[in-house]
Amino acid sequence: MTSEPQDQRPPLVAVASADAVLRHPEVGEHLLTALERERAGRFRQESGRLDFTAGHLLVRLCAARLLGVPADGLVLAQQCPDCGLADHGKPYLPDHPEVHVTLSHTRGVVAAGAGFRPIGVDVELAVRGGSLRAVARRVLTPGELAAVEASPEPNLAFLRQWVRKESLIKIGRARLDTLGEIDLAELPLDVPPGAPLRSRHGDLHLLDWTDREHGAAVAAVSTAAPRVVELTS
Ligand SMILES: [Zn+2]
Repeated sequence: MTSEPQDQRPPLVAVASADAVLRHPEVGEHLLTALERERAGRFRQESGRLDFTAGHLLVRLCAARLLGVPADGLVLAQQCPDCGLADHGKPYLPDHPEVHVTLSHTRGVVAAGAGFRPIGVDVELAVRGGSLRAVARRVLTPGELAAVEASPEPNLAFLRQWVRKESLIKIGRARLDTLGEIDLAELPLDVPPGAPLRSRHGDLHLLDWTDREHGAAVAAVSTAAPRVVELTS
């Protein structure tokens, strides 16, 4: 039997409740490295610690599924491309340099991805009543801003473009100070809960969805079409 060459496999992405990841039988806090545990311990709120932990475990589950190996053998590290410190910045697997990984966590929801191509994910919850105008002006193009402001739900529309742009930062296609130069106005702003929406932007494949349980906006971006995997049911 011939199997697919490894690097032809699509990148995998997963979204889950932090609770569901923490209950997953294949992972647990004991898998975190000493540095991850120290970072988890810096959160003032227990909920922040749990979201951080769940994100760092979900990315191990994604990479384990991609590689066909147990999650408990995977070591996760990070390195900041700007300052070189290991306690923040781009995550990677020191023992599997061919694999790209990404993770994101917000209140109660986590997202992660793993692939043989660069992959970025971001998950964010809508903030009620906050004024987004100042931020929106900085990170959206004039066309995107006009479409967001004309949307029936401007906060959600902004959040949709924001998670897409954060994902682009994570694969090195944008920086915080250049987000306003990237124009995603051709992409739809309304992503109903349920099945992910696929679209293209240049050579990139985008996957957008709205988490049904929490209403969180999630975006994934890669140079190959990502596949959504259910890892926590
Ligand atoms: Zn840094």
